Amino acid sequence: MKTHAQEFSESARQYTADLRHRDWIQQALSGYYAKRDECKSRFQNWAGARELAAEIKREAINHLDRYLDEFASKLEARGTKVFWAPDAQAARDYIVGVARQHRVRSIIKSKSMTAEEIHLNEALEKNGFKVVESDMGEYIVQLRQEPPYHIVFPAMHLTRQQISGLFHDRLGSEPTNNPEDLTMIARHIMRRKYCEADMGISGANFAIAETGMISITENEGNARLTTSLPKVHVALVGIEKVLPKLSDLALFLPMLATAGAGQPITCYNTLYGGPRQPDEPDGPEEFHAVLLDNRRTELLADAEQRDALHCIRCGACLNVCPIFKNVGGHSYGTTYQGPIGSVITPHLRGLQDWKHLSQASSLCGACTETCPVKIDLHHHLLRNRRNAVRGHPGRREKLLQAGFVFMMRRPKLYQFVARAGRRLQPLQRLIRGTIFDPLRAWTQTRSFPSLAKKSFRELWRERRIP
Ligand code: SF4
Repeated sequence: MKTHAQEFSESARQYTADLRHRDWIQQALSGYYAKRDECKSRFQNWAGARELAAEIKREAINHLDRYLDEFASKLEARGTKVFWAPDAQAARDYIVGVARQHRVRSIIKSKSMTAEEIHLNEALEKNGFKVVESDMGEYIVQLRQEPPYHIVFPAMHLTRQQISGLFHDRLGSEPTNNPEDLTMIARHIMRRKYCEADMGISGANFAIAETGMISITENEGNARLTTSLPKVHVALVGIEKVLPKLSDLALFLPMLATAGAGQPITCYNTLYGGPRQPDEPDGPEEFHAVLLDNRRTELLADAEQRDALHCIRCGACLNVCPIFKNVGGHSYGTTYQGPIGSVITPHLRGLQDWKHLSQASSLCGACTETCPVKIDLHHHLLRNRRNAVRGHPGRREKLLQAGFVFMMRRPKLYQFVARAGRRLQPLQRLIRGTIFDPLRAWTQTRSFPSLAKKSFRELWRERRIP
């Protein structure tokens, strides 16, 4: 059986060689950069807004216990059933239990990466429940039976022609390249599904401690229908989603829209505070909030990398990452792709199995520079590399370290090797990348850094005043 690292490198190699795929991803993102920059310019001070957002998230995460208690008790006071799920299995079992208890036949679900993280659809389907994704992108990848390609744009790797072909094959619709027609085909089917569904499942973008409400931000209105038409609503909320105050949304909603999709604000922004109250005309009769830990508290205990929990899942770090744009979202084999996925997956799923992801970076720092909540992403990748080696140094690392120590303790030998290296450099250039090159795994795709003509010692000797 292949390891995750082998699967990643095989898939990455294939996608990187697929120029059409790379070209399409570049095209799909080309409009995003300009729109994002225009939206940033609407902020009085984008840099200041990032500082403030990071500060608010720091406050929320550093006092997570207090804010979560406040959030849960306010939700419960309005009749919401709150379930604390320590791990994915507990969350899945609870949601399956709710579906069984209500003899649910059909479930409609809005976009939730947290649900992807715990493989909720698979668990529900295994237990005989039919789940339909109501977000257009998620619906497309569900029809294709593949995971989302990107945390915000699940179907960004597909062209209109491919989507039209998919709808033709799976739904029997007429082929069309018109995006509006494609949307109408899905919408027509979806409207019926909303009315049939007995249970709606959503995620949450933010959990407001002050008011005990979840905030969902979306562009299609599908989450509103998913959460208000069925009799039962289950909201799956990662515990890191907490914000202390309702007024924090005044910053976070436009910031998420700007960084995530290059929009000033998303079309629908809704707050949910519990089941339908006696004086309310609509809403679910029963509301469940599943608060998911799933190793987030382990990350919380790591003071050095705790700020990875500040992530608001805007996807901006993916959009600027040169590795993501070449290897594509599916190569990662994880729920969260790109830089943030490479940082948190080793924490959520195990460092040794996923340590290869921290090598999938040029360490250019574009992700850190763009992150609206200022997560130090590329340094976290370095920290993951360090931790992986520190825990279990591989044979190669051990050999390299031993060689380095041996050499550093013998200055004469070091000088001799450095001199020889300089002399052999022209020869190395000659055989670079060929079968005679012992370093060809590296030099086939990179130039070998040139050694300085003179060593520091030689320069020192030359310049020393007699
Ligand atoms: S790490 Fe930052 S840029 Fe990346 S998804 Fe999270 S909030 Fe967005």
